[in-house]
Amino acid sequence: MDFKNCKRCGKIHYGRGPICKACEEKDEEVFQIVRTFLKENPNCPMTVVSKETGVSVKVIERFLRDGRLEITEGIADYLRCLKCGKPIKVGKYCKECSNEVNKEMKSIYNNVTKKSDSDDAKKSGAKMHLKRISEK
Ligand SMILES: [Zn+2]
Ligand SMILES: [Zn+2]
Repeated sequence: MDFKNCKRCGKIHYGRGPICKACEEKDEEVFQIVRTFLKENPNCPMTVVSKETGVSVKVIERFLRDGRLEITEGIADYLRCLKCGKPIKVGKYCKECSNEVNKEMKSIYNNVTKKSDSDDAKKSGAKMHLKRISEK
């Protein structure tokens, strides 16, 4: 049977996830505390949430990045884009940077598929793609 070290506490465990059962349960407990608190105080700034719940800002940030926690107005400014440092609401990058990342990926993809595409199809394809981005 597979066993590994828990990413959180370092103990050997047999679970499917990266962390052991005990840490998972603790995670869930902490998550519920934060979520309940945010439900009752939706406009609370992150630092206050951390203070009131006793949950460290780092842990709350992890919940946000994982997309488990809903962003409320008070903590909306907390997350920062990993690329440019702009405040974001969810995930790792701001809209511009994630577009940038997507574009980079697309150009790599285009370079690979260029040979099989006709010029016309490529042009209209690019236009459609741009349109879709600006409509968002
Ligand atoms: Zn653990
Ligand atoms: Zn950015």
